[in-house]
Amino acid sequence: VLSVRGLRKVFGDHVALDGVDLDVHEGEVVVVLGPSGSGKSTLVRCVHQLESVDGGAAYLDGELLGYEQHRGHLRPLPEARVARQRRRMGMVFQQFNLFPHWTVLRNITEAAVKVHGQRPEEARRRAVELLERTGLADKHQAHPKQLSGGQQQRVAIARAVATDPRIMLFDEPTSALDPELVDEVLSVVRDLARTGMTMVVVTHEMDFAREVADRCVFMDRGRVVEVGTPQEVFEAPRSPRLQAFLTRFA
Ligand code: ATP
Ligand code: MG
Repeated sequence: VLSVRGLRKVFGDHVALDGVDLDVHEGEVVVVLGPSGSGKSTLVRCVHQLESVDGGAAYLDGELLGYEQHRGHLRPLPEARVARQRRRMGMVFQQFNLFPHWTVLRNITEAAVKVHGQRPEEARRRAVELLERTGLADKHQAHPKQLSGGQQQRVAIARAVATDPRIMLFDEPTSALDPELVDEVLSVVRDLARTGMTMVVVTHEMDFAREVADRCVFMDRGRVVEVGTPQEVFEAPRSPRLQAFLTRFA
């Protein structure tokens, strides 16, 4: 589904991504781990085309993201085509970014109808179903400020899922939440994984990573240092940097 090749991103004189390769297959859950500043957010932001890239490429279902071949070199795609590519991905951030003056239901259906062309009745039916699945059946008409952070994040996830993305990208979906609200959000992500959704999840929740990941990717200083099953990564880390990283959570 997603394929990243030699991705490079530089901020000023700081190399945030230094040649990252990553493949995410259909139905696979890939968890990205790594210390602060290792480039995890930059990676998903580049895939989602929120950042330009300075080298390498990312492909969704074989289609180059954000750029096109032009006379032997790459040039950025027009914004409308980038937007179309971005719509095939669902992104969930630390901050939920719901529209405060809309109801929960409208937050979920608006993009599905306006941007993805779903019929309003169909979008509404989907939204109601998603709210049930995320334990928010009684919150259709609530406004975001009437919800807890965990509930808001669950709405943000439902909103992304409602547009039937090819892949979901999560960037630390629980790190802005109070500890007691983390589990309810992780359980929604876990259920989504069980439905076969293809996903990339950046997280510091190690128990969750261990349980849900098909593969774990450990990043450090803009590089993928180690990739493996949760068992390989957690029980038998090979690189000293991953070993050091894991001892902090032990
Ligand atoms: P965290 O766990 O703290 O979220 P991260 O692994 O997501 O960290 P990134 O946010 O991807 O790390 O940042 C990688 C590096 O790039 C950091 O050194 C960061 O300071 C730098 N960086 C990220 N975004 C920008 C930006 N817009 N301008 C300048 N530097 C940036
Ligand atoms: Mg980050």
